Amino acid sequence: SAPVITVDGPSGSGKGTISQIVATKLGYHLLDSGALYRLTALSVIKNNIDITDVDAVSKAALALDVVFEPQVDGEQKVLLKGEDVGVQLRLDETSAMASQVAAIPEVREALLVRQKQFRQEPGLVADGRDMGTVVFPDAEHKVFLTASPEIRAERRHKQLIEKGVDANISHLLKSIIDRDERDRTRTVAPLVPAEGAVVIDSSNLTIDEVVQQILDFIGF
Ligand code: C5P
Repeated sequence: SAPVITVDGPSGSGKGTISQIVATKLGYHLLDSGALYRLTALSVIKNNIDITDVDAVSKAALALDVVFEPQVDGEQKVLLKGEDVGVQLRLDETSAMASQVAAIPEVREALLVRQKQFRQEPGLVADGRDMGTVVFPDAEHKVFLTASPEIRAERRHKQLIEKGVDANISHLLKSIIDRDERDRTRTVAPLVPAEGAVVIDSSNLTIDEVVQQILDFIGF
C-alpha cells in the first residue's frame, strides 16, 4: 500500500502547518485527523446530540458527510453536508466538544476506517495524536513533534492576539500543562511517541528548519 508519514504531537507543536508543507512538497495526500474529531463535535452540536449518548455520538462519527478540498495554497476546504465549516471547526465550543468526543472509544473506532481510506498513492502525511501508534502502526516514517509548554503557550497567545482576543499567557500555560498531563495519562489513545518515531523538539526551530529535518529523516 501507499507510503505513510505520521506526524503526532500536542497542539501548539506546529504539526498542522508542518504536515501541510511536507505533504505539498512531496505531492502527498494529507490527513488532518483532528478535523474528523472536530467535525464529529460539530455534528453533535448541530444535531443537539447528547454527548453521554455514546451510540448516537458514534453514529454521527460514522455518518459524517464530509469532503476535503485541497486548495492551491496547501490549505484544505472542509465541507460538511456541502457547507464550508472551516471557521466553525476552530471555535472554542467545537474544540472543547472535540476533546470530549475523542475520549469515547466507540467514536475512535468509528473514525478508524475513514482515516485508513486516506492512504492512497502516491502517499500520505497523517497528522494527529495516534497516527503512528494506532491508525498507521506500519507507517514507513514516524515523527513525534513537541515543543516546550512555554513556547506553545506563547504561540497560542500570539494566535489569539491576532484574532483580537485578549488572553492571559500564564493561564494559557497552566491549561497546556494540565492538558498534557491528561493526554499522556488518559487510557484512550494516550499521547506518546510511537515506537521508532523520531522526536523533534520545535521549541527553538523555525517552521522551515523542522520541515527540513523531516525531509532529511525520510531521505527526500
Ligand atoms: O489537532 P486538533 O486540535 O485539531 O484535535 C482536535 C481534538 O481531537 C483534540 O482534542 C485531540 O485530542 C483530538 N484528537 C485525537 N486524536 C487524533 C487527532 C485529534 O484524539 N488523531
